Amino acid sequence: YGKLYVVATPIGNLADFSLRGIETLKQVDLIAAEDTRHVKMLLQHYGITNRLIALHQHNEDRAAPALLQKLRDGQSIAIVSDAGTPLLSDPGLPLVKLAKEAHVDVVPIPGACALITALSVSGLSVIPFSFEGFVPRTSSARKTFFNEKLLSSTTWVFYESSHRILACLQDMAEVLPTDRIIVVARELTKLHETIVKASLAEVLERVANDDNMRKGEFVVIVEGAVLDKSEQLITPEHKRLLGVMLKQ
Ligand code: SAM
Repeated sequence: YGKLYVVATPIGNLADFSLRGIETLKQVDLIAAEDTRHVKMLLQHYGITNRLIALHQHNEDRAAPALLQKLRDGQSIAIVSDAGTPLLSDPGLPLVKLAKEAHVDVVPIPGACALITALSVSGLSVIPFSFEGFVPRTSSARKTFFNEKLLSSTTWVFYESSHRILACLQDMAEVLPTDRIIVVARELTKLHETIVKASLAEVLERVANDDNMRKGEFVVIVEGAVLDKSEQLITPEHKRLLGVMLKQ
């Protein structure tokens, strides 16, 4: 059997690509990439010329069995996504699953991951933490999600895009106590890297008032709830519900 390599690529700064990552992409028979045009730029930078095949969320269930057959035929394959570590809010799971079931060697080539990069500088307690991927896109689903996380005492982390970061923080401020500490890590490893740690109210104000704070890619980290037994946690959402009940 060939081997399946799961290769992390940089999340912005090309100098973060590991020597093993570069070597692996040079030496495999085939690179399965989330976006072949995007990865071509990365390969060009390192002088890698190798066969590419598309493996993205819309074709991976269909494409995985054929790729498994290639592994069975002795070919080696590397999975890469557009940035960071494959499978973390990125394609790769169906093929990795099939490969493991078929006892093909699945070899990790570690490297950048926006989630871990942000956590490592958050100064928040990181054990345990929960990773939520992308939060829901609609306001009502987002508020439901934040409500479910409200009392979690674990640090939680999610990814957000520039289009939704402001609306997302506004929804969060309607549900969570606005003195909750959060970290917004923007454009990690890139020129405009900004890491803001403050209360939800302060971060929201900064993001609302500074256009630059709504540009780029974001990781948001939320400190877990600190619940004292003697202390009642009254949140904006609780107050709203109380108001609704009192009116009835
Ligand atoms: N697999 C990737 C990883 O290991 O981080 C994540 C892929 S996910 C499709 C892309 C999201 O990750 C972005 O929308 C953003 O939330 C986050 N992200 C990726 N690169 C980032 C960066 N340089 N700074 C901040 N967030 C980033």
